[in-house]
Amino acid sequence: MLKKNIQDLTKAELAQEISPAFRAKQIYHWLYHKYATSFDEMRNLPQDLRDTLKEKYLISPLKQVMVQNSKDGSRKYLYELHDGHTIEAVLLLMREKQYHKDGSLKHKERYTVCISSQVGCKVGCAFCLTAKGGFVRNLTAGEIVEQVRLIKKDNDIAGNRRVNLVFMGMGEPLDNLKEVVKSVKICADEEGMAIATHRQTISTSGLSYKIEKLGKEALGVNLAISLHAVDDDLREWLMPINKAYNIQSIIEAVKAFPVNERKRVMFEYLVIKDVNDDISAAKKLLSLLDGIKAKVNLIYFNPYGGTQFKRPNQADMEKFQAYLTSRGLHCTIRESKGLDISAACGQLREQEIREGSKCLF
Ligand code: SAH
Ligand code: SF4
Repeated sequence: MLKKNIQDLTKAELAQEISPAFRAKQIYHWLYHKYATSFDEMRNLPQDLRDTLKEKYLISPLKQVMVQNSKDGSRKYLYELHDGHTIEAVLLLMREKQYHKDGSLKHKERYTVCISSQVGCKVGCAFCLTAKGGFVRNLTAGEIVEQVRLIKKDNDIAGNRRVNLVFMGMGEPLDNLKEVVKSVKICADEEGMAIATHRQTISTSGLSYKIEKLGKEALGVNLAISLHAVDDDLREWLMPINKAYNIQSIIEAVKAFPVNERKRVMFEYLVIKDVNDDISAAKKLLSLLDGIKAKVNLIYFNPYGGTQFKRPNQADMEKFQAYLTSRGLHCTIRESKGLDISAACGQLREQEIREGSKCLF
C-alpha cells in the first residue's frame, strides 16, 4: 500500500482517519511542537496505534540538500521532494535580539519564513528566475507545511514561538489555491504551529478571480499583490498574465477582499532601473490606490546572470518612496534580506541545477 503523507491532513481530517479521534491532537503536538520525525517518538500513543500509523503514513516528504547563510542572519534552504525536484524556502531574520541597558532581554528575534507553493511557475514573469525553468507541479499542503516545520526545527525555534509566514517563494500560490488554503489552516492550527492567519501573507501576481475565491474562504490571511507596473502595456511585458487579468480587474478584486481591520493590502512594486523607476509611475500608483487601504513595498530588482534588467539606484528608490509617503501613502523599501545569498526566488535552485552540486559545504 502506498503510504500517505500525514502532513497533508488537517487535524479534522486526521481525526476522521484514526481511532480514537482525540489522538489527532496528540499527533499534531508531536509533529508540530516537538518536531517528531518518526511515529516511535510519539511515546504517549499506544503501541498498536503507532504501528497502524507507521503502516499508513509517512512523516516529512522533504530532504534538505543545501543551506546558505547570509551575513544578515537569514538562511536559505534547498529541499528535495520525493520525486527529486527541488524547492527553496528562506528564514528571514527581521529583527535581532534586543537587550535592555542592564543586559536583560528586551525583545526576542523576529523571524519570517518564506515558503514555496509550486515547483516552478506557470505565470512566466520576464524578471523572475523561477519562471525560467517553466512549471513542473503543484506542492501538496504537506510539502508546503513541512518547509515551515523543518526551518523552525533547524533553527531551534520552539514549536509555540511566533513566526510570520509569507508565500513568496517559488510558484504562484493562487494557482495552487486548494493546497495553499489547506496549508494555511494546518499552520494556523492551535495544536500545531499556531501561526495565526493574520501572521500569514499570500503574495500573488494578480489572478483576479482567484483573489475573490481566496477572499470567500475568509481565512483572515493578508494579501500582497505583485503589481510592479502601473500601465497595462508595461505590465503585460513584465508579467504576461496581465493580458488575462489587467490592472483594473486586480484593483476591483482587492476592493472586494476582506482585509483584517488592523491591516492593509500590500502592493509589491519591483523597481527596475530605467523600466519603472520614474516619478511619473509613482504619481499613477498614487491615483490607482486611491480609496484602498494599501501599503506599498518597493523591492530592489535583484539581478542574476543573463538578465537584461538592472538594479535601481538607491537615490531613485528613495525619491519614489518620498513621493508616495509625502502624499500620505504608506510606503517602505524592502531591505534586501539575504542579498549576499541570492535570496530572490529561484536563485539557489538555479545554482544547484547549474553546478550539479548537492552541497556547498
Ligand atoms: N508568485 C507570487 C509569489 C512568489 S514571487 C508573486 O509573484 O507574487 C515573490 C516576489 O518576488 C514577487 O513580488 C516577485 O515579483 C519577486 N521577485 C521575483 N524575481 C525577483 C528578483 N529577481 N528580484 C527581486 N524580487 C523578485
Ligand atoms: Fe511566478 Fe511570482 Fe515568479 Fe511571476 S514572480 S514567475 S508569479 S513566482
